[in-house]
Amino acid sequence: MIFEIGEKIIRVMKAFTEPRIAIKDIVKEPAHKSPIFRGRHEIHYEFCIGCDACNKICPVDAIKMKPLPLKKPRMVPEVNLAVCIFCGLCEDVCPTKPKAIKLSGGDIEIIAPDGTHKTLEDFWVRVDIPEEWIEQKKREEEEKARKKREMMEKKKREAELKKQEAKGEEK
Ligand code: SF4
Ligand code: SF4
Repeated sequence: MIFEIGEKIIRVMKAFTEPRIAIKDIVKEPAHKSPIFRGRHEIHYEFCIGCDACNKICPVDAIKMKPLPLKKPRMVPEVNLAVCIFCGLCEDVCPTKPKAIKLSGGDIEIIAPDGTHKTLEDFWVRVDIPEEWIEQKKREEEEKARKKREMMEKKKREAELKKQEAKGEEK
């Protein structure tokens, strides 16, 4: 009898002090990690050209394009890891060098430090672009457009001049 009571007390104490199975499995035993997991995505917006290829090729619609107020990139990808199957096609198809999207090969925690599951928002790989970077890109785009305009006007003037010269020679 005393032995049984002692056993129950130990069992209850263990239940309070030992980590719950879910936490133990996922956080402490890497063998339970999905064999197809290839790490969180790294998104390098500074290399991205906004071609949308990663989004188009994704077989499970895990990518959403975030619009930007720029001509290039017009948009950058964000990834929902709760949907992603880690096939790596987005990285394969990305045309930039270095790749603007790639699987990090790192790990992902689905349990928060307090033992609770993370929220669905936590599974999104979001792109946080500094406002200064966007402003700088806008200035660069304006400058490029200005130079292009000047070049076109110059060519137009030269063509008109040639035309006038040709007319003068005819007379
Ligand atoms: S790894 Fe595959 S499933 Fe995941 S976002 Fe890229 S293309 Fe989609
Ligand atoms: S990450 Fe790569 S594939 Fe995706 S939009 Fe940017 S450049 Fe295109």
